[in-house]
Amino acid sequence: SKELGKNKYQFCDYFMKNSVYEEMKLTNYLYQALDRDELILCYQPQVNTITGEIIGVEALIRWYHPQIGFISPKHFIPIAEKTGLIVAVGEWVLRTACRQKKEWLDKGILDVPIAVNLSVNQFVNNSIVIQIENILNETGINPSHLDIEVTERIFMKDSEYVIRTLEQLKCLGVTISIDDFGTEYSSLNYLKTLPLDKIKIAMEFVRGIGNNEKDEAIIKAMIILGKSLGLEVIAEGVETKEQLEFLEDNLCDGIQGYYFYRPMLGDDLEKIMSVNDSE
Ligand code: C2E
Ligand code: CA
Ligand code: CA
Repeated sequence: SKELGKNKYQFCDYFMKNSVYEEMKLTNYLYQALDRDELILCYQPQVNTITGEIIGVEALIRWYHPQIGFISPKHFIPIAEKTGLIVAVGEWVLRTACRQKKEWLDKGILDVPIAVNLSVNQFVNNSIVIQIENILNETGINPSHLDIEVTERIFMKDSEYVIRTLEQLKCLGVTISIDDFGTEYSSLNYLKTLPLDKIKIAMEFVRGIGNNEKDEAIIKAMIILGKSLGLEVIAEGVETKEQLEFLEDNLCDGIQGYYFYRPMLGDDLEKIMSVNDSE
């Protein structure tokens, strides 16, 4: 067992060295990715639970590296956050999503807000409000067309500062959603103080529908809590009819998930829309 322990240690050591190296490599590649047009946005519609009508579209980043292939945002966003690159990547995401929204406005399709994910570290940057204001002006879309998704992680930061920033964003006229609701540093206190519009029930809870009574109880409570506070409640990661029916029975407002739509390129989403129109 001594031998085993030693091997285990060596394995960890190797793995760590390797992952640091991997991370450095990815960081360098990510610097280039912006210039080389390797980043892409996909869009995933959110639908009304009862009617199935599209009520919003979330922008999700994709990175295609010519040698490595597709790299998941779950992998590179944390690296971008650590290295500060998230500021540039985040600005690119905001601008690209708003441009896409403008294109849809001009074409008279997908007349719903576009949701963009914002990292904590984009809040550190004092100019986030000005940046968003500028991008809205530059792309010519209305602030109400933009929905900002933040996770509870932002409440780890200086809360005075976060509250002020969210209030300023709200004053601009954008809406604010809490992503992955209930999975991180939750303190229900912020629901009282922040100018929120929406909560998104995390996929982790939705997974439990039909097989975990506790997940079901938590979801029910979240929906009641959200609605009592006048917030819109969206459930994420809905893949089955059973999950949809549970959420419908419990009066969840909206659904996002593979059951209805997967994230797809803007062009592909447009094609689906025009097929639906001609039906
Ligand atoms: P998220 O914001 O919670 O996004 C939802 C994730 O769930 C997306 O993964 C989406 O593709 C996936 N998803 C949606 N419906 C289903 C479903 O029915 N089943 C399953 N299994 N998955 C579903 P994705 O695109 O890989 O993004 C992962 C995370 O990366 C996002 O989680 C978000 O935290 C982050 N991310 C993505 N794009 C951006 C971005 O532009 N900026 C920032 N800061 N973070 C981003
Ligand atoms: Ca999100
Ligand atoms: Ca989420």
